[in-house]
Amino acid sequence: MKFKIQLVTQTETGEDIQELACLERETEGLEEIGISLAEVKALLTSLQKQVVGQQIAAYLTAQHRCPHCAQAFRHKDQHPVVFRTLFGNLEFPSPRWFQCDCQPHETRTFSPLTDLLTEHCSPGRLYLETKWASLVSFDLAAQLFEDVLPIETRIHATSIRNHLQRVAKRAEAGLGEEQFSFIDGCQREWAALPRPPAPITVGIDGGYVRKRDDKKTYFEVIVGKSIPEEGVSKCFGLVQSYDDKPKRRLFEVLKGQGMQLNQQITFFSDGGDTVRNLQLYLNPEAEHLLDWFHVTMRLTVLNQTAKGLPKTFDDEDQQYELREPTLKVLESIKWYL
Ligand SMILES: [Zn+2]
Repeated sequence: MKFKIQLVTQTETGEDIQELACLERETEGLEEIGISLAEVKALLTSLQKQVVGQQIAAYLTAQHRCPHCAQAFRHKDQHPVVFRTLFGNLEFPSPRWFQCDCQPHETRTFSPLTDLLTEHCSPGRLYLETKWASLVSFDLAAQLFEDVLPIETRIHATSIRNHLQRVAKRAEAGLGEEQFSFIDGCQREWAALPRPPAPITVGIDGGYVRKRDDKKTYFEVIVGKSIPEEGVSKCFGLVQSYDDKPKRRLFEVLKGQGMQLNQQITFFSDGGDTVRNLQLYLNPEAEHLLDWFHVTMRLTVLNQTAKGLPKTFDDEDQQYELREPTLKVLESIKWYL
């Protein structure tokens, strides 16, 4: 049995404008069931072209007359513009019109579409590009786009990177000023705050990353996770030497999780000074602990050294045990801690 499904756009009165897709189907094998990714891509691309084309035509028609004297604007020329959407990169002509003489103007001509298309990338596409590129590499994000979305042209990793940079800069502009201390008010004011939410636990650690082609240059990346007793945990990361608002960044993460100044909050870290400075003065109730992982890591190193010690040592004809007592002391330190 053979099927044919035709999709067309129509005017309000029912006249066909354009065929969007024509799917022909056999019903013989498993691979024939349903629509394929390639068909969906083709369908969405032509649908998007139709929708955007109609919207732009409608917009230009609405703008075509001078709002003061209702005279139609005279056409000068046009240039091609590209608008990147989730369903294809659309190229269409953007007209340039002469300004109307009834009013004084700073320029002789203007492009009406620049008021509508303030960006050359749709917000939906910018959102998904930024989201994917923040989870995987720029290259992988570009490949993912090509796999699932109907974008016929090659997406370059650099263009995703540029878009992400732009979104990041915009988000960055919304971040408040850096402060030495984020503790405002006094004990009495904090006590007057509503009952605090359940405690938050924050783990922070730093690691050094070396530059690929220059072994002498490295920078410290600080990453961490904030885990409220109730609610969703959040990860954060920053490069302190590049970031001019590291404390503000961490403060906003905690504030985003509903942190109040009368709330109990525990920071776990390796005690390194860069990490320690970051978590200071964020909350008056904060408790700063050296985490067990970093304590045992040091004990392990000490244990290895102790195992390499000589069994005994001689002092003025007397022989003392060395290795065994040292190992015993280390073991008791661990249990004591
Ligand atoms: Zn006019």
